[in-house]
Amino acid sequence: METLIIDGKKIAAEIRNDLKQQVAALDPKPVLAVILVGDDPASQIYVRHKMATAAEIGVVVKLFQLSPVMTEEALIEFIQDLNRDDSVDGMIVQLPLPRHMDAYRVLESIQPEKDVDGLCSANLGRLFAGRPALVPCTPLACMELIKRTCPNTDGLQAVIVGRSSLVGKPVAQLLLDAQCTITQAHSHTHHLDEICRQADILVVATGKPNLIRGNSIKPGAVVIDVGINRNEDGKLCGDVAFQEALGVAGAMTPVPGGVGPMTVTMLMSNVVSICQKATKKA
Ligand code: NDP
Repeated sequence: METLIIDGKKIAAEIRNDLKQQVAALDPKPVLAVILVGDDPASQIYVRHKMATAAEIGVVVKLFQLSPVMTEEALIEFIQDLNRDDSVDGMIVQLPLPRHMDAYRVLESIQPEKDVDGLCSANLGRLFAGRPALVPCTPLACMELIKRTCPNTDGLQAVIVGRSSLVGKPVAQLLLDAQCTITQAHSHTHHLDEICRQADILVVATGKPNLIRGNSIKPGAVVIDVGINRNEDGKLCGDVAFQEALGVAGAMTPVPGGVGPMTVTMLMSNVVSICQKATKKA
């Protein structure tokens, strides 16, 4: 069987193109506040990438670079000011935060309607209650790739390996909403291979390179590999043994070039949809 390689870069570019046209029709333009506390080099790279993607689409970014020694209370007050600022549609707090801060408390202080990362408990609660919510970007990216590869998921068996609030749990809920029968696996799961072999749709988000081998994949399955790891040679790889999966999976995402390029684009999609709702209300 020939495996279709799902081209996340190309699909993300198509979505950005579409978003660009939607933004062109908006006045005022969507405004995203980006809060960066401290000078973590990896965070600076992520923020630059988000700013470049925003610029491509026409989303205005207000970047706030804050001191790493500021208190958690001061950061929460800063966020609350942005909550009250009607010119700001959405905001993100770049993680990780300095050690003296509790990321959960900080994220909880973002007004749910401006929480473009969809990580506060109000948004996660709304998602699990089947109410309109801002959904975290990586799960949204997984679903977009699945929908484009397999438009009818009705009744399919989906296995999600990983149960984090950032990826695994929201993906499971979204697949349930898409009428799949779901199994959620984690580090305590027995007979993981057997369970994965049942999956028409297999989403793997563990951070364990090569956890899923070719013989754990059902022939023809759609495989979404969320993991980002480095192998012994220092090269990027996912959680699925890519070469072994070739010829078994019906379609699969590569690492790099699969879910990764989609994530920031889905963040922008959340910003644009907040702004569209605000424009409609006005
Ligand atoms: P977490 O570490 O929060 O969660 C990992 C999950 O994998 C846990 O639920 C854990 O189980 C499970 N797990 C670990 N080992 C095994 C195992 N041997 N068998 C079965 N399940 C296992 O990670 P995240 O969800 O935040 O991220 C997962 C991966 O996705 C990482 O590689 C990360 O870098 C990547 N990622 C990629 C993104 C992208 O844009 N492409 C965005 C976000 C993450 P348990 O709960 O029992 O501990």
